[in-house]
Amino acid sequence: MFGLVIAAGTVHANGRLIGAMSTSPEPDVPARERLTSVLCRSDLVAYRGAVADVAEEVRIRGPRGVEELLAERLGEPELRAVLSRVPGGADAAVSSLLEDVGRFRPNPRSSARDLPALVRIYLLSQVDSVWWRGAPTFETDLDVLHSKELVDLDPLRRSGRLHFQYRAQSDGIRRRAGDWLVRRISPGRRPHTAGLRFTRARWELIALLNDLAGELRAALPRETPSIWVTSLVRSVEHQNRLRALGYAAVLPSSHCVGYGVDIEMRWFRRFDEDERLAALLVERHEAGELNVIDEGQAWHVCISPGACEVLARADHRALIDEDQAPAGRR
Ligand SMILES: [Zn+2]
Repeated sequence: MFGLVIAAGTVHANGRLIGAMSTSPEPDVPARERLTSVLCRSDLVAYRGAVADVAEEVRIRGPRGVEELLAERLGEPELRAVLSRVPGGADAAVSSLLEDVGRFRPNPRSSARDLPALVRIYLLSQVDSVWWRGAPTFETDLDVLHSKELVDLDPLRRSGRLHFQYRAQSDGIRRRAGDWLVRRISPGRRPHTAGLRFTRARWELIALLNDLAGELRAALPRETPSIWVTSLVRSVEHQNRLRALGYAAVLPSSHCVGYGVDIEMRWFRRFDEDERLAALLVERHEAGELNVIDEGQAWHVCISPGACEVLARADHRALIDEDQAPAGRR
């Protein structure tokens, strides 16, 4: 672990300020202040407990009872501690949740297998929203592709500096045929996932993933494959595409500010019977470094501003090529 500090930090908005992780602009609040998180560890523990209760109540009451339930529970300090701090406040969070509840249809693409899961995932993701409130958002695919805040993964992988695995989304028949062949010949070698649309990431997230992979490599047998990343940065444009296809892609999302990542869990468990990866994530989550959401096949992970600060002070950026390091950080 990095030995941190939940409360907050500043964010390095070296690039163009494209948007903000917000449903409503807050032009009069200085960017750095907006990025200061005030959640303490006890707030987070109490909030997660309250979210588990709400999800269980949703299971009992069904879809029609969700609005009434949220109205009843919103006054509770455990929920308000987080929801009152999201962009737009608790009312905005609840109305956005009710919208998602209204359009929810269980389907194999969604990580939310049922309505209680959707409510749980949505409410837990609000911690990301508080942490990264006001952070620059990647609105379009071009914003992601041209951002100087993001580093290309492929050159790092080629030079052996990535200790985690991923694959790019297949965009041609030949490549898809190749993927199919790999699955036929060696079904367990790769998880069955769509691949990354953007093979770019914030270097802090790369450092985090390398760090997790390194700890696992030390703890698991040599032949164990390294962790597999199924999603990193996304544009809001792409998030909306995913929503239209039925994925449980919440908005705002830490993926759209580059601080969220999804890690394949179901596939990795076949090599990790003792669930060391899960334990590692939970440990860092409990220390306030990460927000971790169990979404079944993959777990969603968001790095906290405090953890980013620690990574910035540490020597992790040595893994980045000088010519790839974001401007202003060299
Ligand atoms: Zn995610």
